[in-house]
Amino acid sequence: MRKGGKIMYPRKKCLRPWDGYIEPFKIVDSVYYVGVYQVCTHLIDTGDGLFLIDAGYSNCLYMVIDSIHRLGFDPRDVKYVFSTHRHSDHTEANAAFSRLTGAKVMIGELDAVQDGLYRPDVLLRDGDRFRLGDKEFFFMHTPGHTRGTMSVFFDVVDNGRKLRAGMFGGAGANTLTRSTSSYYPGCVEDYLRSLDRLEKEHVDVFLGNHVWNNNCDEIAKANRENGGNGFIDDKAFGSFLAFCRKRCLETVQKDDEAEASPSFRKKVYLSDL
Ligand SMILES: [Zn+2]
Repeated sequence: MRKGGKIMYPRKKCLRPWDGYIEPFKIVDSVYYVGVYQVCTHLIDTGDGLFLIDAGYSNCLYMVIDSIHRLGFDPRDVKYVFSTHRHSDHTEANAAFSRLTGAKVMIGELDAVQDGLYRPDVLLRDGDRFRLGDKEFFFMHTPGHTRGTMSVFFDVVDNGRKLRAGMFGGAGANTLTRSTSSYYPGCVEDYLRSLDRLEKEHVDVFLGNHVWNNNCDEIAKANRENGGNGFIDDKAFGSFLAFCRKRCLETVQKDDEAEASPSFRKKVYLSDL
């Protein structure tokens, strides 16, 4: 979304799970949105089983399942759930979803946690390729937001046109501050190096990890009202990465300033107790 020439990535609060309900929609042929506002969930039809990117929060799972149904698919045909990174907004529903559907869970090996509820079936590494039906998913290890964040790229054919879809699997700069639990030494350098690598990837169809990454609900609305397909935009991914770089540098600057202040030292001291 552009306002006064400035790219905006706004977000709204969802106090109750259903406040984030989003009517499911098609992005391009074989790629659908079945998530809620709180976190994205994408469904990919491979012709030989469905592939889900991020199952989301447990308390939103009923909406994801309903959305899969509404699009005419059977949730039990989901063969794999790929978790982009280990944060609960992306993984919390993995256990219930995999029990309900029999889907196998994939996650970056450095983000694999066995929390007693689910055990990841496939551990992903940088450069892994995974074929299901007519799709081949290419995984890139892009740490920073978490140690094991994985980004994904795959080709799709929309109206006979070959396009490349891609997602930055963990874009938030919030974890790059020292006071957050996902912070680790070197995360900022990792994040910037991940951006360097991602910037080299050509993406025609940018899939957000969160709705506010690409305002996909707004694009879907505009597509419905005006026709055309705003999801096909080979500049959107690059613009978002540039935004992420700027936000990262601002976050680091603010964190350095905060660390230099007496109140920050007190906070660290207290949390160390
Ligand atoms: Zn996260």
